Formats: sequence, structure tokens, C-alpha cells
Amino acid sequence: MKIGSALLIKDGGPRTAWLNGLVDELVDLRRTSEIIVVSSGAIGLGAARLGLPKRGRASLADAQAAASVGQVDLARLWSEALGRHRIVAAQMLVTLGDLEDRRRYLNAAATLGRLLEEGVVPVVNENDSVATEEIRFGDNDRLAARVAQAAQADAVLLLSDVDGLYNRDPRENGAKLVERIDGVTPEVIAMASSASSSGLGSGGMLAKLQAARIAERVGITLAIVNGAHDRPIARALDAGRGTLFLPQQDESARKAWLSGRLAPAGVLSVDEGCVSALANGASVLAAGLTDVEGEFRRGDLVAISGPKGERLGQGLVEYTSAECIAILGRRESEQEAELGYAPRAAVVHRDHMVRA
Ligand code: GLU
Repeated sequence: MKIGSALLIKDGGPRTAWLNGLVDELVDLRRTSEIIVVSSGAIGLGAARLGLPKRGRASLADAQAAASVGQVDLARLWSEALGRHRIVAAQMLVTLGDLEDRRRYLNAAATLGRLLEEGVVPVVNENDSVATEEIRFGDNDRLAARVAQAAQADAVLLLSDVDGLYNRDPRENGAKLVERIDGVTPEVIAMASSASSSGLGSGGMLAKLQAARIAERVGITLAIVNGAHDRPIARALDAGRGTLFLPQQDESARKAWLSGRLAPAGVLSVDEGCVSALANGASVLAAGLTDVEGEFRRGDLVAISGPKGERLGQGLVEYTSAECIAILGRRESEQEAELGYAPRAAVVHRDHMVRA
């Protein structure tokens, strides 16, 4: 769930009552779903505290300074709002590179997974204070779609200050809300006006369409609803008001980016036991490894092959080639001595693997 600055901030200060209402809804939703929050607001809050012009966006240096000041406030806001329900908040600051570099992607995905297991609500934002222009998402809409991808989420909810996508500029007469989009085509993009109505965030409708495009290609549903009301999610559901972007590819496509067009950096050979475990959707464990070919780093793409050399699939490896050799054939209890640290859950995790 992505929350934009315009919803969270008014006149330079947080809209605490609104946030508490939203968190009440989030608590209800948590009965059936795991939730990750992507929250903007650092630049807006920091700019107000420092008294910077143009809401902190006069220059990149201003925005970065504002973000580092405001992020402290933002994290506290979420921690307090969730804390009212005895829910623990976690802060995760990421840059584009963290989700595109496969090694760091594995870490981000593992951290999100672990936090959710602990019942914590991760609150993610871009690491604005260090990201340079080239490695920024720039808007949290796309960040939300990438985080959803890393977390293998089913859906992304973008809470905006508009009801959704209109077929033309919503300020024009006769503009109509589009309820459902089956693929973000050039015609759909032409409907969006790049002007964000509030001027607080950086997103605007074009950024939301880019997010929708990322989501639809990896099998994730995305919705834009108006968050400006009290209890916005209930309102959007009751009124059926918003824009829904349907996935254009199935689940397998979600994993397809793992392999991309990259050539595997190595091959892991596995035994029969592992072959049947993989057929049942399990991960590759060290105990099933029989051979390691090639030199690779954690996060590289490796091929997985069976006892007869048959290709079983490929995925992102959790260890370097030297570590794989060290723990080859070993059970979990024996691995720590070889690695010098507590072993990871798998050599290639099922979530980061495509089967042949
Ligand atoms: N990461 C920015 C912030 O926290 C917001 C980016 C956006 O507006 O989408 O202020």
C-alpha cells in the first residue's frame, strides 16, 4: 500500500488523525493479508521543519537534506500510529539499485519476508538522502511496484489524492473515471495528465501508470483509489470507486525477470532427492548438491541440473561458488562450521527460481 505525501501532510505537518484512521483499516486488512507500506512524506516533512522553499524541491541537495530530516519524523509517525495497535513498524530505505542488482534484491526480499514473518509492518521509502538522480526512483509509485515484485505481492494499492485515472484531465468538463484497465497501452498513457494536483509529491498520474505497467507485467494487480477521505479503503470498496489495472501476464512471468537474458554464471548439479523435491516446488538445499561449476557471487544467476545433466531450472544463488563447494552435500547443522556464519534457508530459494 503506497501513501502519497499529499495525503500524509497538510501545511507542513502530519495529518495524524487521518493516518490513525487508515491504520485502523490496515489492522482490519491484516486479518487476511500481509501488508507492506510504501510511504512518502520525508521530503515534505523535512522541508517544513527546515523552512526550505518549494516544499524542499528547489534543488536535489535541498530534497536530499529535507528527506534525511523528514524521514526521522516519518518513521516516528508510522511507529506511533501502528504502535497504538501494538504493531511494530520497520523502516526500510531503498534505492533503485537495491531492487535491480540481483544480489541486493535477494537481501531486500529476504528482509521483507522475515519482517512479515515476525508480524511487523515494513514501512518503505526511497533512500532519498543518498540516491543520486541516476539511481533514484524519483517517485514512490514505481518504488511500490518494485517492492511488490520483490515481496511477491498479489496486489498494489496506490492511495492518491484523486479517485483514479480519468479519460482526460479531470479538471475538464466531461472527464470520466476509468474503472478498469486491461493493459497500459499508449492510449491509456495519453489519458494521463502529468500534473499532480497537489504539487507535494513527485508522482502524478504518469508515474502511477508506469507503476501499473511494472505490476501488470509481473502478474500483480494494481489499484488507484482516493485516499483523501477518512477510512479511504472502505470507502473505495463500498463505492467501487477507483481504477483497477489487471495483470497482463501470469505468475510465471513474475519470475521471468530473474533470468532475463543473462547467461547463467555457473551450474549446480543436484541429486535425485533434490530433483523430486524441486518438482514439488521446494528450494535447492546444500544437502542435495553434488557438483558446483563456474565461479559466481551471491545473487548471480545459476543453472540447476539433475544427475543426468538434465536442465531443471535456474535461479539466483544465495552463496558464492566457493561457499557452495564448502557446503556441498552438507546438512544444515554442519553448514555453519564451513561458512563461519549461520546458513541461509536455501542455496537457491524457490521464490527466486524458474523451473525449466
Ligand atoms: N520519497 C519521497 C518522500 O518521502 C517522495 C517521492 C514521491 O513523492 O513519490 O518525500
